[in-house]
Amino acid sequence: MPQPTFRLQDDPVGGLPEEWDAAFAEIGERPFRARQVFRWIHTRSVADPAHMTDIAKTLREKLSTWQMAMPVEIAHAHRAADDTRKILVRFARRPEAGTVETVLIPPMPDEDDDDDDDEAPPVGPKSGLRAPARRVTQCISSQVGCAMGCVFCASGVAGLKRHLTAGEIVAQVLLGRTQLDPGEAIRNVVLMGMGEPLHNYDNVARALRLLTHHDGLDLSTRRVTVSTSGLVPEIERLGRDFKGEISLAISLHAPNDTLRSQLMPINRKYPLSELIPALRRYPLARRRRITVEYTLLKGVNDQREHARALARLLAGIPTKLNLIPMNPIEGAPYEKPEHQDVLDFQGILRAAGYSVFIRKTRGDDIDAACGQLALQGARAVKRSLPVFEAPGSGDHGRA
Ligand code: SAH
Ligand code: SF4
Repeated sequence: MPQPTFRLQDDPVGGLPEEWDAAFAEIGERPFRARQVFRWIHTRSVADPAHMTDIAKTLREKLSTWQMAMPVEIAHAHRAADDTRKILVRFARRPEAGTVETVLIPPMPDEDDDDDDDEAPPVGPKSGLRAPARRVTQCISSQVGCAMGCVFCASGVAGLKRHLTAGEIVAQVLLGRTQLDPGEAIRNVVLMGMGEPLHNYDNVARALRLLTHHDGLDLSTRRVTVSTSGLVPEIERLGRDFKGEISLAISLHAPNDTLRSQLMPINRKYPLSELIPALRRYPLARRRRITVEYTLLKGVNDQREHARALARLLAGIPTKLNLIPMNPIEGAPYEKPEHQDVLDFQGILRAAGYSVFIRKTRGDDIDAACGQLALQGARAVKRSLPVFEAPGSGDHGRA
C-alpha cells in the first residue's frame, strides 16, 4: 500500500517539532509559537486551537484550515475489575475508517513499582506532574486489520483495511492519558494491538519519534516496544534508525520453518534462517533483551519437543520469553493449551537457562485477544479481552 508524503496540515498530531517550525515559518509565525502548539498537543492532549488559551487569535485563525483536532475518539470504553481499561477507538468524523483498540494496563498488585532506571519520568495526566506514579502500560494499534494472515489471530483473518497515520498512532496514547486515574502515568507503550507495526514502517517510525520526543510525551525509548511477526528488512531498519534503543518483541510461535510457515505466512518470505540472524544482529544495548512471544496452541506447538527445539534455536540471543496461551477465536480450529503443558514448556526452557514468563490475561471474563476487539465491535468490549504484559515490566517471575 503506497504511503503518501506526510503533510502537517493533514495530520498535525503526526508532525515533528522541526516540521512545525518550518510550517510556521511559511505562515509567518515564529518557532516558539510552533513549539507551543506542539506542546499543547503532545503534553496536554489538546489539538483544537480554540482551546489553546495562550495562542493569539490571529494564529488560531490561520490554523483553522488545518485538520486541528484529535484524530481519534472513544467509541466504547470498558473498565475491568482489575482496572484494566479497554478502549474501542474510532476515527473522528470518519466512520468509514474502521476502528482499532487500545488498552491501559495497570501494574499487577504484586508488581514491583519501583523505578530504578535512570530514565525520563513517566507521562502524567497533566504536564508537570512528576510525583511517583502508578505506572500504566498502554497497548496500541498500528493498522486497521492486518495483512500478515496468521491463522490464530483475528486481525490476520480479517485482512488489512488500512495503515494508521502517525498521528492516529500517537493520538491513542494522548487519548489513553485522558483515561488515567489520579496518580497514574503511562510508563510503557507496546505496539501489540491490531496490525503489524513494521508493515507500516514510516508512520510507526514517526510515531516512535514523537512518543519519545523530549518536548512531547517523552517516553523512554526502551519503554516503547515494537512487536513484529518478523519482517526482516524492517527489523534491520528499526535497529539502524533507532540504534537499537526501541525495544523489540518478536512473535515466533514455532521453532521450525514447517510449523511456522503453517501458522504465519510471513515465514515463507522470511524464514528462520533469515529471521534468527536478524535478531542476533539487532543492535541491543548492554543488558537489554529481545522479547520472544510464543503463543501456545494446544497440540500444535506446545509439546516438549517444541520447547527443546526453541531452546536450541535461540541459543546465544539475549531473550526474555513470553508464553501466551492461545485465546480461541471464532472460525479457527486452535484451542487453549493444557495448563500442565504450559508449565512443562516453561520448565524445559527455564532449565535451559532462559527467562520465561507465562502471560497472564488481565481484565474480567477474558475471552478474546488484543486485536480481536475492534473486529468484533463494541459488544466484545463488554465481554472483555486479555491484555499483554509489558515486556519492560515483566521481569518479576510471576508465572
Ligand atoms: N502484529 C504484531 C503485533 C500484534 S499481535 C505481532 O504479531 O507481533 C500481539 C501478539 O498477540 C502477537 O504475538 C500475536 O501472535 C499474539 N496473538 C494474536 N492472536 C492471538 C490469539 N488468538 N491468542 C493468543 N495470542 C495471539
Ligand atoms: Fe498480524 Fe500480528 Fe495478528 Fe499476525 S499476529 S495477523 S502479524 S496482528
